[in-house]
Amino acid sequence: MPELPDVEMFKGYLDSTALHKKIRKTEVSEERILSGVSQQMLARRLKGSELEETKRHGKYLFARIRGDGWLVLHFGMTGELAYYKDPHDRPEHARMVLRFENGYELAYVSQRMLGQVSITGDIESFAAERGLGPDALSGEVDRERFLEMLEGRKGMIKPALMNQSMIAGIGNVYSDEILFQAKVNPKTPANKLSVDEKKRLYRVVRRVLRTAARNGADPEKMPRGYILPHREEGSKCPVCGGKVKKMTVSGRTSYYCPRCQRRP
Ligand SMILES: [Zn+2]
Repeated sequence: MPELPDVEMFKGYLDSTALHKKIRKTEVSEERILSGVSQQMLARRLKGSELEETKRHGKYLFARIRGDGWLVLHFGMTGELAYYKDPHDRPEHARMVLRFENGYELAYVSQRMLGQVSITGDIESFAAERGLGPDALSGEVDRERFLEMLEGRKGMIKPALMNQSMIAGIGNVYSDEILFQAKVNPKTPANKLSVDEKKRLYRVVRRVLRTAARNGADPEKMPRGYILPHREEGSKCPVCGGKVKKMTVSGRTSYYCPRCQRRP
């Protein structure tokens, strides 16, 4: 599922392909992906305009529409972007297609249609309406603030990291990597973490997300010692050689090493 590093990669992709290209036409093949905007309204807003710049907040990608407002893309469980010239290359699950004057198309692809396309006038108010916390890599989340956020949380640490209203951008896969790197068991109650553990967690959140974003969110390109390429029960822990285990935490399948990440 696209998390902060994946969306950062989509941002780079959009920047290097579809920016500053005049939009001729917008096609939406599945109206269910639209949120708060009709197909007609979206097409009208984009026609003859251009996407000028992009921003990311958590798992959301924003592309500024020349003149006014932002196109908002959320990728759900399986979304991605594709830019191509030949209409035969249009991906099967393209739900929205921007056709440019240069003949190319940018497709928003979402197999399971859990993603969302929308429009907003202002990123900050959009984030506030959705109850999104600050972006995990923004300067707003400094160490003090991070420690404060975990203060008094009785629930387990893994769902806290994934809670988009606390900090935005971390999902199931990267919370596992962060907890593995910090040597913290995913089921540890947040308020049972020592101050040192919380400080370590803060450092690791930034390191893991930045490293993954830099490597195009590709599991095969992660540094040695990352659990991400070993998300399979029984595979070898890249640190201690023990067996990676699977468990359900807050309804989500989680991978961890019981030896490296002991229960408190
Ligand atoms: Zn281990």
